[in-house]
Amino acid sequence: MYNSDELRLFSAKAKSGLCSHAYIVDGAAGIGKLDFALECARAMLCSERNKPCGYCSSCRKAITHDHPDIFIIGRDKTAAIADVREIIRRSSLKPNDSDKQIFIVCNAGKLRADSQNALLKLFEEPPETVAIFLLTESRASLLPTVLSRGQRIHLDGMRDEEIESLLSEKHPECRYGEIRNAVDAANGNLGEAERYLSKESRALRAKAEELLLLALDKKKYEVMNLLLVTKYKRDQLSALLSEFVSAVNEAEKQRYDVRMARAPQSQELASRLSNASKKALARMGEAAAVCLMSLENNANITTASSKLAIDLLSAASR
Ligand SMILES: [Zn+2]
Repeated sequence: MYNSDELRLFSAKAKSGLCSHAYIVDGAAGIGKLDFALECARAMLCSERNKPCGYCSSCRKAITHDHPDIFIIGRDKTAAIADVREIIRRSSLKPNDSDKQIFIVCNAGKLRADSQNALLKLFEEPPETVAIFLLTESRASLLPTVLSRGQRIHLDGMRDEEIESLLSEKHPECRYGEIRNAVDAANGNLGEAERYLSKESRALRAKAEELLLLALDKKKYEVMNLLLVTKYKRDQLSALLSEFVSAVNEAEKQRYDVRMARAPQSQELASRLSNASKKALARMGEAAAVCLMSLENNANITTASSKLAIDLLSAASR
């Protein structure tokens, strides 16, 4: 998700009627370029003063993706020359029910040179009633002639503080440390942070931490139980073990006082780690990694998890 500064600026311009006709919107994959362009389109087509108002007939159609004057090409697969010709043809027609038609070209950087050249004419001198948005991950993939004609909007990720306050609101069940971990892991991408805090990923982490704690305390019976009683499917066990490996990595970082280590979810594990042996942690991480590899090589699941249980317990004695 992009940070909202550019959108506020665009809405302010739309309100004063100062929008341009040709925009190049660039930003990382998954940051929300299409959502951004659709918001801009709503602002341009809105009939109220406070654009986009969200309730006029034009805004409502745009929100439900039925606006007859908003055209998107190249969303699912790169637009072909025929798609480009189609928007050029459309651009000479009158808008259906607003005073403008908005064309949004996704993945514009992947358009072939002939398509980009065909677009150039429209991009250079669009009719009064047309606005066009080219969306791309990298400006460098557009022809220089195209680049020089459009106004650039660069989308940055959301600021950490924005993500943090959204997450704290949405996840009252999470401790502050976990929210911070999610913000750090997200790199400006709200979706990434959400995945990090999802119920499934927290449950998986809890299981991995439980295994680590039991192994550190050499609770033989419980370790066996956790690894062998549940009849894991191959991918379930692999997911648990990858999570275990990262929990061990983070635990090692903490033992070496490396900042940025992700704090354990479990308070019990957090306090247990302060006197865990570094050697034991390292061996446990290795044992899980070896087991993961054997699972990838189609090892028998029960054999692999019994061996892991034995290795973890022997590592704990280090
Ligand atoms: Zn409106």
